[in-house]
Amino acid sequence: SGATSGSRAAAEAATTAPACDLKKVEVIEHRRRTALGEELVTRYVKGRLLGKGGFAKVYLVTTEDTHQHYAMKVVPRSLLTKRRAKDKLRTEIKIHRSIAHPRVVRFHAYFEDADNVYILLELCTNGTLSELMRRRRRFDAAEARKYMLQMLEAVHYCHRHGIIHRDLKLGNLFLDGAWDIKMGDFGLAAKVTGDDARRKTICGTPNYIAPEILEGSGTGHSYQVDVWSMGVVLYTMLVGRPPFESRDVKSTYRRILQNVYAFPEGTAVSEDAKGLVRCMLQTAPDQRPTLEEILNHPFLRDGGAARSFNTTYTLRPEPSS
Ligand code: ADP
Repeated sequence: SGATSGSRAAAEAATTAPACDLKKVEVIEHRRRTALGEELVTRYVKGRLLGKGGFAKVYLVTTEDTHQHYAMKVVPRSLLTKRRAKDKLRTEIKIHRSIAHPRVVRFHAYFEDADNVYILLELCTNGTLSELMRRRRRFDAAEARKYMLQMLEAVHYCHRHGIIHRDLKLGNLFLDGAWDIKMGDFGLAAKVTGDDARRKTICGTPNYIAPEILEGSGTGHSYQVDVWSMGVVLYTMLVGRPPFESRDVKSTYRRILQNVYAFPEGTAVSEDAKGLVRCMLQTAPDQRPTLEEILNHPFLRDGGAARSFNTTYTLRPEPSS
């Protein structure tokens, strides 16, 4: 009888299983109406999972008709019940959609259906600087210089338009097909408006968080928190681990507040590089260098002529819907 049921199961499997192992193709549809009332539909074929975030899963997607590749961030509505999570996503969308710069992950579209919120992003095929670091242990001066300069361009663009990123770290610096940086993840970003130039919310990632945020002092914090985090990024690229890393978050915070870090003996970090890290990692925000000063620091300038930032990039026009 065992043989009979076995062959029956096999026969059943043969009739239900597809002829070859084609995986079901999943399509995400973006339906919308033009100003003239015409319906537009774009169909995105879902590909492999690129990565997971706090709430989001990010997939490679391909447009069905033109075969363009993108990264699609999918956030289930079921995870957006808490006010905080909803606000974070709303801020991320509002700020990121207003930005267009070659060193920032391009925001292409945003839409929703009954189950999810979808954010269509420029695809960064080479992962993040954090993954690259893990494979390489640390970067040499030339690479650290290149990535610092590219990050600076992105940060300068944001600051010039009143946007503080507030969560700069290796994991939020994506790498495109040419291994150039694209700054991403605006989930903790803030838009500064005239009368609210100082923010008071606690935010950031433990290892990269600036002391004035931890102090939570009445004075608030502003653009200089990004300079601090860039200092942490630079140290991490050169040394191979973050400057204030310790066994637990509490000791990390204590070390940040006391400004306790050192360059390990025997690592080939130049005095120029150390000098730049030291001035960026100053406890007093107003002692930290401006972006122009960083750009022209001997470590980044490397003997060349004085440089200034490109100021031709503007914000995207406010979308009508
Ligand atoms: P969250 O904001 O929820 O933390 P992230 O934006 O950090 O989500 O995305 C989670 C992961 O998805 C990233 O670590 C990365 O691996 C992948 N990812 C996100 N955006 C892109 C992109 N534009 N291109 C390629 N991979 C991406």
